[in-house]
Amino acid sequence: MASNSLVWFRKGLRIHDNPALDHACRNSDHVYPVFVLDPHYLEPDSTAFSPGSSRAGLNRIQFLLESLNDLDYSLRKLGSRLLVFRGDPVDVLTGLLKEWRVEKLSFEFDTEPYYQSLDNQVKDYASAAGIEVFSPVSHTLFNPADIIHKNGGRPPLNYQSFVKLAEQPQPPLSTIISSLPPVGNVGICEVLGVPTLKELGYSEIIQDDISPFRGGESEALKRLKLSLSDKEWVANFEKPKGDPSAFLKPATTVLSPYLKFGCLSSRYFYQCLQDVYKAVKKHTSPPVSLVGQLLWRDFFYCVAFGTPNFDKMKGNRVCKQIPWNDDDELLVAWREGRTGYPWIDAIMIQLKKWGWMHHLARHCVACFLTRGDLFIHWERGRDVFDRLLIDSDWSINNGNWLWLSCSSFFYQYNRIYSPTSFGKKYDPDANYIRHFLPVLKDMPKEYIYEPWTAPLAIQTKANCIIGKDYPKPVVAHDTASKECKRRIAEAYELNRKMDGSVSEEDLRSLR
Ligand code: FAD
Repeated sequence: MASNSLVWFRKGLRIHDNPALDHACRNSDHVYPVFVLDPHYLEPDSTAFSPGSSRAGLNRIQFLLESLNDLDYSLRKLGSRLLVFRGDPVDVLTGLLKEWRVEKLSFEFDTEPYYQSLDNQVKDYASAAGIEVFSPVSHTLFNPADIIHKNGGRPPLNYQSFVKLAEQPQPPLSTIISSLPPVGNVGICEVLGVPTLKELGYSEIIQDDISPFRGGESEALKRLKLSLSDKEWVANFEKPKGDPSAFLKPATTVLSPYLKFGCLSSRYFYQCLQDVYKAVKKHTSPPVSLVGQLLWRDFFYCVAFGTPNFDKMKGNRVCKQIPWNDDDELLVAWREGRTGYPWIDAIMIQLKKWGWMHHLARHCVACFLTRGDLFIHWERGRDVFDRLLIDSDWSINNGNWLWLSCSSFFYQYNRIYSPTSFGKKYDPDANYIRHFLPVLKDMPKEYIYEPWTAPLAIQTKANCIIGKDYPKPVVAHDTASKECKRRIAEAYELNRKMDGSVSEEDLRSLR
């Protein structure tokens, strides 16, 4: 009897360095490459604040569809094709395993709680049905479980300890897949093609300034090659240096959306960086180098995997308990780019239109929303990023929101980004603001970072009356930031006194 394998794609949308695909091909007569369109992720949700599903905005859904089309194209070149289904992934998968008499099932290991739960259900079914399961770690450089084990059962909570435990990552797979076993008979199963946005029930994205980042492995490898072609740039890469306002040629690689969907293997990226380092005299080192950035990624994956309730304040042992405000009006002003602070608003509009912003730009808006000015819960900001970023990544997004709100990892709450002077250092002419907030395009550079200070005659000449065409600031930064610092100091004191067991009532006493 023919031996049938099924490879279940979720992330890992690539051919290169794909151990799950490689394994499926070994000693199999037929390989079924499957992707399940999960309604949980893709079904249109008309109640959400922006077009998209309940989980993802349209830019990210579009990026996913482009990545699937590219994967299908690459599989076809190797003699196979992508088999797309729609429905609850566990139901669909178990049905296919039965129908095709699959003997080997492989899929990339995923640390996210949502996938952990799906994967356990699928593994239980497979084990009861005598199907071999292979679920390799290939989304990250390291296996987070190994690091947690080496650290005595808990994840390391700072980067340096993580790096010490991590040592050298596994190299990427050296075998290059040059052909694939054919897809077997699909029987009664109704195979779909990769749908368009329209077929999923969305209108096409129509806006003047759409995300310039296209999905897929081919794009990822092109972008990687281009980024690494300038060896000096790679060798001198130092973050957080770099201009957050550079948007025509961003100051960093913009490989995050490709790493998020696994269109690019982080192990392959790491190896390519090592090759560049070998070819230059000297280079920067972690945490600031490009390799350092990949280690940050793995660091957050490891802590997130080993910390129950990592995406919440309550019940999260690494998170300070802080009595954040719940102010919908301010949240909406921030989300929609209407805070009256052009630097903050331009970043939020870039997020909405492009689904990507520079790391320091993310710092500024996350700090502004939480401990800098508005004192709104980091979970609310996290949700907005989670919906709108094309690189939205459960571990990294939560980890960075915890960091920026001074809830975990970083505790220097006195260091606040100024919403008026920080951006000016990089972009005194405010080209970034003029691009993303065209309403301010004619405002003289002396006033553009604080347009409410412009005399009325200047506002009139610039066709932008503050309070009418563009909002007045929603808070006064000087007083708001002082009040935020006072409240965080108070909350820190409470956390110290209660030694990690702060109750709802304790928090209420600080409101
Ligand atoms: P590069 O500087 O070129 O770095 C290369 C890769 O290293 C990135 O693609 C990314 O995978 C990784 N990396 C870089 N910085 C970090 C970091 N601080 N933490 C973890 N990994 C990092 N990044 C995401 O990929 N998804 C998110 O959902 C996300 N949410 C964030 C939320 C906030 C509040 C903040 C402050 C940062 C967030 N980041 C997130 C981290 C970082 O901003 C982006 O990874 C980076 O800006 C992506 O651009 P790049 O690919 O050009 O990065």
